[in-house]
Parts: sequence; structure tokens; C-alpha cells
Amino acid sequence: MDGDELLLIPGPVSIDDEILEVLGRPVMAHYGDAWTELYHRTVANLQTVFRTGSEVHLIFGPGQAATEMAIASVLAPGDQVIVPSNGLFGDRLQIVSRAHGLEVVPITPRPREAVSVESVREALDAHPRARAVAIVHHETSMGVMNPVREIAALARERGALTIVDAISSAGGTDLDVDAWGIDLCVTVGNKCLGGPIGVAPIAIGPRAVAANEDGRAKSAGWYLNFATWREHAEMWKTWHPHPTTMPTNVVRALDASVRAILEFGLDEHIRRQRVARDTVREGLREMGFEMMVPDEVASPVTTAVLGRPDMSVPDYMRWLLEEKGMRIGGGLGPWSGKAFRVGHMGRAKEPEVVDRYLALTQEYLNANNG
Ligand SMILES: *Cc1c(COP(=O)(O)O)cnc(C)c1O
Repeated sequence: MDGDELLLIPGPVSIDDEILEVLGRPVMAHYGDAWTELYHRTVANLQTVFRTGSEVHLIFGPGQAATEMAIASVLAPGDQVIVPSNGLFGDRLQIVSRAHGLEVVPITPRPREAVSVESVREALDAHPRARAVAIVHHETSMGVMNPVREIAALARERGALTIVDAISSAGGTDLDVDAWGIDLCVTVGNKCLGGPIGVAPIAIGPRAVAANEDGRAKSAGWYLNFATWREHAEMWKTWHPHPTTMPTNVVRALDASVRAILEFGLDEHIRRQRVARDTVREGLREMGFEMMVPDEVASPVTTAVLGRPDMSVPDYMRWLLEEKGMRIGGGLGPWSGKAFRVGHMGRAKEPEVVDRYLALTQEYLNANNG
């Protein structure tokens, strides 16, 4: 069909037929007993994915809606927030923070490096008034993991909140919201969870609730203030546990995908992504490619790769898509046209898909580089 393609990009991701089938069912109302039971079950399963006993809400929107909710619900204009960035999505957190009138203390690691715990410690020392650290767990633009566990512990010691963009890591890497002391954690349905586009689960811990209710005026408005979602989850608990109309098919499909992962085993789901990553890295190295980041900080979700000097990355990507129906991601920012990214989420982690991708890459190199 028009536009059919197999996605090996870092989002969106191709999803299983069973999940697509749920999306195609008749529309269900966003209230009533059956709906409420389904909604609460999905929330409970996401608490398991996040590893939290705190509340979870399912925000109707992209991941960025929930990161904006997190930032704007607990910080007031003029507040200082420390925001390390080693790529596009860290930059986004800085942009969103500034859009809400916050004073951003940026941290910029050297290119292709993870954020260091030491750099966050120095920023906290230099800015003792900082109320929060906002950080991307897996910087998808570079395929690099940031040490959120250590950074959250440090922030907690200093009385600062930790806000985590786990959009491309929850359900795909180790993440333990409660044990690590993360106050706000955001993800989406259609990355590591292999579910639909259009819903962004957010976990909200007790310190975040206290900051939301501290009497200082926040800029979050109504829809993107988590106070509104908490109020309705309680007030309409047995009928309509959210403030607005919900994309019911999308939530049903998310329910199906998360249940499938938990039945299969979350650890095993994560392990399969790691296996896909290792196979891709090894296979590409054998073909002479250089990985953008070292193995120690490489994510099991996305692999960023430097193009070989003897090839055209845009031509290779175009060939894969137009001739073979397989889409990989391009390099972002300064790496556009020079690097490419292979996602390991959703169907991309299937061993047959990985093998086909590597075989096609070899075929392309044979045909184009003598
Ligand atoms: C994909 C991604 C986003 C953007 O998610 P949207 O749903 O497009 O808002 C943000 N952060 C990270 C780390 C991502 O991988």
C-alpha cells in the first residue's frame, strides 16, 4: 500500500499486526465501566514498566506534551533549572524550559560524549538555587545513554527535583523511577513499548506533587498542568478518570502492547533490543563502519553510525528506502548527511529484520564501492 515501509528509525516504530488490529476496532467511549477498568489497568501496567508506586497519567499528545507538563507544573517563571544536553532532545528540554520563563543553566558535554555526573555536580555547586535538573535518559539523536541514576541521586542530595525524558528508554533499558529517586518521568507509546502514536505516560512522584502545590504561580495553564489530571483522576475515578476526551483506540492499543511485553517479560523484551544492537554494531564494524559512541554508553535502542568516507550516506539511505522499503534514520544537526541511525525498537529488533538490514547494507556497499 502507499507509504508502506519497514521502520528501522529511532521513532516512530513499526508495530505488530495484533496491535494494529486493536487500533482498527470500532471507537469506544472515553467513559463508563469497561473503559475505566481498561484505563486503570493500563496505568497499573505502566507503573510496572516505570517501576514506580507513584501515580501515572496517560497524556493525550506527543512525548513533548508530557515533558512540557512536567517542567511547567513544578517550576515557576524565574526558577533556575539545570539542563544538560548532548543532542537534539536535550536542546529541546532547554527550549521548552526557556519558553516557560525559566532560567536555564546549560551543560554541554564534548560531542559524542555522555553527560558526566561530575559536570552536574559542578553545576549544582555553582547554582545552589537550582530547583531541578531536567535530563534526557537516552539521547536518541546520538544513541547515547546518560547516567540518570547517579544524577538523580545527586539532585536529591541537594534538594533539587529530577525531571527525566525517558521517551526512548522506558521499556527499552534499565529504568527504576522509585529506586533512582526520579520525580517526574515521561515516555511515549510508540517507541520501546511498540504501541501506538499519540499517548505519553507520565509518572509523578510525591516531591513533584508538593512542588506543584507549593503556592507559587506556574505557567502550565490547564490542560498541561498535572494538577488538572490528578484532580480528575480522583473526582471522576469510577467513570472518566481524566479531564478530556481520550483517543480510546490508541489507549486500547497501548494496553495491548504493554500487556504483551509484561506477559513476555520486561527484562526479556529489553534483552532482545540489546541483542539487536550488538548484532548491528558488530555487523557494521565488520563492514568498516565507525560507531558514533563507545560501547559502554551505547543505548540498546538506537545505534548512530558514521558513514564510511567512500560512500554517500544520503544515497545509501535513499536506496534502502526506495529499492528495499526499509527506512533508517539520518544523522541530526552537524551529522546530517554524514551519519545515520538504526533503531532497535518495535519490529526492528526481530532477528530476521536485523539480518536483512545487514545483508542489504553489504549488498549496497558491494554495488557502490567496488
Ligand atoms: C522521540 C523523542 C522525543 C520526541 O517525542 P515526540 O513524541 O515527538 O514529542 C523526545 N525525546 C526523546 C529522547 C525522543 O527519543
